[in-house]
Amino acid sequence: MSTIERVLPITRNQMVRVLRYLLDSVLACAGALLVTGVILVFHLYPGIPNISIVYLLVVLALATTRGRYAAILSAVIAFLTFAYFIVAPFKTSGIYLVEGWIALFVLLIAAILTGQLAVALRERAEQANRRERETRQLYEVVRATNREAEQAHQQLLAYEQAARAEAEATRARLYEFFMQAPAMMTILRGPEHRFEFANPRVLPHRDRADILGKTSREVRPELVEQGVLAILDEVYTTGTPFVGTEFPARVDRRGDGVLEEAYFNFVYQPLRTAQGLIEGILVHSVEVTEQVLARHRVEELNLQLEAEKNALRQAEQEAQARTAELEAIFEAMTECVIVCDARGEIRYTNAAYRSLLALEADTDPSLLQLNNRVTWLAFRDLGGRPVSKEQVPMLQVLRGERLSGTHRIDLMCHTYKGEDLILNISGAPIHDAAGQIVGGVVVFRDVTERLRLQQQVQYSERKLRVLVESNIFGVAVTEGAGRIYEVNDRYAQVVGYRKDELLSETFSWHQLVPPGSQEAQAHGEETLLSTGALPPLERESLHKDGRHVPILMAGALFDRERDLALTVILDMSEQKAAERRKQEFLSMVSHELRTPLTSIMGFIDLALLYSELFPRPLSLEAEKLLGKMETGLKRAMRQVEIETRLVEELLEVSRLELHKFELSLHPENLVTIVQETVANQQQAARTRQIELVLPPDELVPVIADAGRIGQALTNYLTNALKYAPVDQVVSVRLEVEASSARVSVRDLGPGLTADQQLRVWERFYQVAAPGHQGPDGGLGLGLAIVKAIVEQHQGQVGVQSAPGRGSTFWFTVPIEVSPAG
Ligand code: ADP
Repeated sequence: MSTIERVLPITRNQMVRVLRYLLDSVLACAGALLVTGVILVFHLYPGIPNISIVYLLVVLALATTRGRYAAILSAVIAFLTFAYFIVAPFKTSGIYLVEGWIALFVLLIAAILTGQLAVALRERAEQANRRERETRQLYEVVRATNREAEQAHQQLLAYEQAARAEAEATRARLYEFFMQAPAMMTILRGPEHRFEFANPRVLPHRDRADILGKTSREVRPELVEQGVLAILDEVYTTGTPFVGTEFPARVDRRGDGVLEEAYFNFVYQPLRTAQGLIEGILVHSVEVTEQVLARHRVEELNLQLEAEKNALRQAEQEAQARTAELEAIFEAMTECVIVCDARGEIRYTNAAYRSLLALEADTDPSLLQLNNRVTWLAFRDLGGRPVSKEQVPMLQVLRGERLSGTHRIDLMCHTYKGEDLILNISGAPIHDAAGQIVGGVVVFRDVTERLRLQQQVQYSERKLRVLVESNIFGVAVTEGAGRIYEVNDRYAQVVGYRKDELLSETFSWHQLVPPGSQEAQAHGEETLLSTGALPPLERESLHKDGRHVPILMAGALFDRERDLALTVILDMSEQKAAERRKQEFLSMVSHELRTPLTSIMGFIDLALLYSELFPRPLSLEAEKLLGKMETGLKRAMRQVEIETRLVEELLEVSRLELHKFELSLHPENLVTIVQETVANQQQAARTRQIELVLPPDELVPVIADAGRIGQALTNYLTNALKYAPVDQVVSVRLEVEASSARVSVRDLGPGLTADQQLRVWERFYQVAAPGHQGPDGGLGLGLAIVKAIVEQHQGQVGVQSAPGRGSTFWFTVPIEVSPAG
């Protein structure tokens, strides 16, 4: 389609004009020169005298085609070139012929005029052309404008129709959409919310005609109470849409007045007029009851699941804790535990197992494989015979056997380092839920030591039984309360009862204690209970026939809870009789010896007195003889004195044995006794140095037989002087302790071994070693006498000594505390 713009004249610009003049100039020059050239070349002048008229043709042609300027320029150039080249003389600008000049001038004028005319004509023609062209163009423009307006009108009509059809279709589609919508679509009109539209999903059980035009209150009265109408009112008045999500409502589904719980997702969208006024509400509602209930169910299930998961987690944690606890218990157990799978391969071993079998923490695991394990363990029965592989405890267990109670087995085996062990083995298979054996657990206890102890106990028992059954001693198992539970024949024989009498419930061993010995017996019982042992003591037992039988009795408490003791008695009747006979003999002998010894001493004294009374002066010879006699008499006197002391000691001992050792007890000052005794000894042995150390108190009160305590100290002192080197000092010390006074004599003599220290208190015991032989012999009775004297005073004796380091013999006497304190 041509437009107005396209037919408008194009304005020439300057460039085009210059080009045009240039072209006009070239054509003018070329035309004129061409003609001149032709005339010159063909020598047409002056053959043809008016040949210059040809130029006119060129001028005319240029005037008609190119315009005034080209025509004039061509005429001028034609005139000049013709005059210069053609008119003679050649090539001079002088024009000699006037007629030439006139012709040329006329030509020029003609050319100019013709050109002018041609130009005027041409311009007029051009003008006419232009006008015609413009008219034609205007016409074209008008025609085009008319056609476009028509087309636009037609198009508008078509648009309007299409829009109407589209709007109709949209309306229809919208209606169809509303009707087919899977949601409840309702349009409520006005403040009373009248039903204007309701698709079939809204109250499907009711006729549409029954609904449309009625208010919401009339159609859904059950929603009034539930506040739904209030929401509609709110939306209508405020214009704010309301979105309900899973909104709970009780609805009358079948129109029978029965309300059911339901949930809805809905939108109350206010509808506005073109002016923006609210005219109704579009309700879009979807029932989501099933989804909500399903979700509630899912939530409940989730909660249930969560609870179950928690319970499971807790159970798992408990199981883990139990496993850890079990492992800790296993690890802490002193018994060895191994857990194996169904093939007997180890799944777990505890520390005790590894330690007992001397397995390092980094032991090669292959060594624990069943076959290797069985090889180095080398199970044997207690007789040392190897057991077959089937008898290996773990394999027994994996066959379903339970090794418990009496079915436990004792087997010998090797540790990994090859040491022998005796194991007490129990175990049980592990079953899965289906009852299949999936493994086994075996527990080892190291009973090597226990069996060794058992053997030792059996051995000791056998020894004891042999001793008991040998009937050398009387042996009984007695209870503190009096019951006798076991007794051997010898015991029954000593006490004169039958065994069944002694073992009867009604018999008490207290019946065997003579009336006078009750106190000593009670004392012995106390010792037994406090120390667990009753050292051998000489006692008397009451024979069934009433006799007092001397016995040596000892005992040991072996069951403190039940107060059971093993009592051993030895019948001392014969020894006592023999002892008595010996003592009587000794007494008799010493008495018989003492009497003549006393007479001998008297006679020696008398002889010495007579020798002094001998009338003097005497001859030298006689004086010499008398001197020799006196020396002999004095030596005899010393021997008799030694003899007398020995006899005295013998007498003392026999008195002790025969219980004729009577004390005459009086309150005494021990300081005085010690001082006097030391002074006497110093007197007798003037060459010796005796040191005396006394306590600060001048009075150490004791109840004592002064002579006997002095005798005891004398015995210690004479021994010290006898056995210590003569140049060494002997120290006597009196010390006061808490409730007793202690008298000790220290010497630097040969000293005594521990065994000798125990035995020196025995009668007739003398140390058979160098340095212990005194100058005047002895009987080994002195210390026994000291012990008897001190014990009669409720004191104690003792010695501290070591070979080569001297000895300190001591005794204690209880201090008599006066009532005043
Ligand atoms: P004895 O009359 O033989 O000395 P005792 O009973 O006094 O008899 O002593 C017994 C034995 O104890 C002595 O033979 C002597 O070997 C040893 N003995 C006693 N006192 C001492 C002492 N102070 N140092 C070394 N040995 C002693």
